[in-house]
Amino acid sequence: MLIVMHQDATPEQVAAVVTAIESKGLVARPIPGGHRVAIGVLHNDGSVEAGWFHDLPGVKDAIAVTRPYKLVSRECQPEDTLVRVGNTVIGNGHLTVIAGPCAVESEAQALTIARLVKQAGADLFRGGAFKPRTSPYSFQGLGEEGLKVLARVREETGLPVVTEAMDHEVFDLVEAYADIVQIGTRNMQNFSLLRRAGRSRKPILLKRGMAATIEEWLMAAEYILEGGNPKVILCERGVRTFAHHSRNTLDLSAVPVVRQESHLPILIDPSHAAGRRRQVGPLSRAAVAVGADGIMVEVHHAPDQAMSDGAQSLYPDQFEALCREIRPIFELLRR
Ligand code: PEP
Ligand code: MN
Repeated sequence: MLIVMHQDATPEQVAAVVTAIESKGLVARPIPGGHRVAIGVLHNDGSVEAGWFHDLPGVKDAIAVTRPYKLVSRECQPEDTLVRVGNTVIGNGHLTVIAGPCAVESEAQALTIARLVKQAGADLFRGGAFKPRTSPYSFQGLGEEGLKVLARVREETGLPVVTEAMDHEVFDLVEAYADIVQIGTRNMQNFSLLRRAGRSRKPILLKRGMAATIEEWLMAAEYILEGGNPKVILCERGVRTFAHHSRNTLDLSAVPVVRQESHLPILIDPSHAAGRRRQVGPLSRAAVAVGADGIMVEVHHAPDQAMSDGAQSLYPDQFEALCREIRPIFELLRR
């Protein structure tokens, strides 16, 4: 249920409605909006009907939210969510470029790549310190040492950093260092991790599960918003199909669907979708053309020596060319 207040409703009336909702054992979540104050009513199993809300002073309307996801839906919040990170804004009207290696391998490696991607136009730096690897014998990331390197990168370049919290156990640590905490594809439905992310004050980059429907993905985001953290950025990174010409199949159609259904910003990760660097440029251009709020791309100064995902990592000059190509596409659509 969504309670829409009259435009001239007083803050006292809004507070009284919140108290009234809570007195019924329900959860009230005020939703800031440009033109109206709305209050989401959560955990209503249908026992409290719309008519009851209509009688409260200052209430204009009580609308049933038809989607299974509530707080992430456009029904609840028509305006796009903007996520501020340092000096950058992710969402409506901004093109965000996140770039960096798959994994932080050393301070020298991370700093070298960070300087290059910053010069090429990246807004944020990415790099995994805790890596979800298919094999336990593969490089697992530097752990806390990697997080310290990321802090050095931020200090030196001014770029905010994005890195993954692979499980509940390391969330506190990752949260302390990261500007944006990533939840990876394999964890999209790790509900205890989602609940922990809901208690965080840091923005969360929620990647789509590799076999998840859009509804499941939005429900995962709902966990985070329901927990009290409205700063969620969605990231499409390709889904599993029968195709072998790419690592995954980038679902570009997810972008218009998510835009219609949700107010949350959506980025595209062409690197994990493609798995091959040759496809990353074309998919990035398509990502911007289809209306994504930006891209997250893997870049390495020496991909042949990369400890993970070298084959899909762009060379710095390729990344620079990519940045030059996508900007005009974005501007063209904005006009
Ligand atoms: C990553 O971005 O580092 C990563 C592991 O991606 P995904 O979870 O999409 O596989
Ligand atoms: Mn990777």
